[in-house]
Amino acid sequence: MSQAGGVDRLGGMRTQPTYVVGGGLAGLTAAAALATAGHAVTVLESTSELGGRARSRRRDGFSMNVGPHAVYKGGVGYPILRRLGVPLHGGAPNFRRYGVITGGTARRAARYVATLRRPISTVRAMLGAGSRSARELAGTSVADWLSDAVPDARSRAVVESLVRTTNYAADLDLLDAGAAARQMRNALRGVLYVHGGWQTMVDGLADIVIAHGGTIRRNAPVSRVHQDGQRATGITLDDGTEIDADRIVVAVNEARRAVALIDGPPLLDLEVAAAAAVPIRMAHLDVALRPLPQRRIVTALGLDERVFVSTPSDVADVAPADGAVVSVGRYLAPDEEADDHRGELEAALEAVQPGWTDHVVDVRYVPRSMVAGDHPRVATNGTLGRPTVGIAGVTGLAVAGDWIGPRGALADASVRSGWDAAALVAPRSLSHTPAAPSLTAP
Ligand SMILES: Cc1cc2nc3c(=O)[nH]c(=O)nc-3n(C[C@H](O)[C@H](O)[C@H](O)COP(=O)(O)OP(=O)(O)OC[C@H]3O[C@@H](n4cnc5c(N)ncnc54)[C@H](O)[C@@H]3O)c2cc1C
Repeated sequence: MSQAGGVDRLGGMRTQPTYVVGGGLAGLTAAAALATAGHAVTVLESTSELGGRARSRRRDGFSMNVGPHAVYKGGVGYPILRRLGVPLHGGAPNFRRYGVITGGTARRAARYVATLRRPISTVRAMLGAGSRSARELAGTSVADWLSDAVPDARSRAVVESLVRTTNYAADLDLLDAGAAARQMRNALRGVLYVHGGWQTMVDGLADIVIAHGGTIRRNAPVSRVHQDGQRATGITLDDGTEIDADRIVVAVNEARRAVALIDGPPLLDLEVAAAAAVPIRMAHLDVALRPLPQRRIVTALGLDERVFVSTPSDVADVAPADGAVVSVGRYLAPDEEADDHRGELEAALEAVQPGWTDHVVDVRYVPRSMVAGDHPRVATNGTLGRPTVGIAGVTGLAVAGDWIGPRGALADASVRSGWDAAALVAPRSLSHTPAAPSLTAP
């Protein structure tokens, strides 16, 4: 194997860099954490663009995320991104412009909730502020939790819709109530639509890596990550290049893909977790409009259909002054992935933005996007039973992504596991050097 060295700024000693496989949020967070702590780091990204699912399509002043994308300010990723210095500016959706879609019509959410038999208890359930904590609810399905906590069917439809929207999950029998309640609370602490779209965060992380001496290689797909059952040993690229590496973070986008990439003796815990993973998926329609037909309702939750409409341009700079960006999502249950939901998405958009088809500047329909590599399932006690970033008995190898680690869902899990993976592979002697910022979690 060839020797690819790097200068580690801690003590000026020359070491192999840490290699990070995958340039999405998880990989870039790991790389930024390592680089800012003084470690030599190289990111290997298979495509020509960084960001993975956090990329934004930028055209003619419009910035379109991959489906509806909001940062959860109460989540575990937010403080890490802030600590790294990633630009996190934008706006929070205005609750006065929230609606619900029922019977094909969009109505103001506050007015609809007021018509429920028990509006206050519905709101309390929405806040996840029942008598039981998220930890106590772990191991119970959302379906069981809500049939018990919210007996009135109309009220329950509102709470279920909020659970779907905050967790991106359609199968409420599969979804763990503890994790779902925690995620709802995170969302209710505030969400952020980011100026410039999520690409701003991706570019911010990449800039931090480069500014601290790290290397980012695009168009560098990794075909194998090698380990010998005791330690990480190297990487083979698709073009056949072999690299010695004793510190590797694997941050590719799927559980089974991550496992398939790692060579050597079987990693049983990880393989079992990957085989059992049930990815969260969504169909989405992303549109750039000029002008937006109406602003009375811009965020809408489907009650009798599993849809969600979001308009980040209402509060964030993602469109020119006379334009708007709207994403409509359809939450997919694991068994309905092959169906076509475009008509349903267009109808939901028509309910919120009548006549939108006359205003289209750009449109993208994605029938099946992977939102996260696994649901926080009842079977794994939500996030608590997910695999850890480290692999028992194998030093220098860590895995990161939105299906890894006991804390956080969606992008929060990617960011948090990326950070934890960096702390795990960084040699103790270096990460504890006084000159380097600590890699303990904020
Ligand atoms: C429609 C949709 C809506 C979402 N909404 C939200 C939201 O509102 N809030 C939220 O918190 N999260 C949301 N998410 C989830 C969030 O986008 C992801 O959790 C996060 O972006 C995943 O980051 P990642 O780095 O783990 O994976 P990815 O973004 O998938 O990145 C993995 C990277 O690895 C690269 N790669 C793969 N294989 C290789 C290889 N062999 N060699 C080298 N590189 C490789 C890929 O090209 C990619 O760049 C949403 C996701 C989707 C799809």
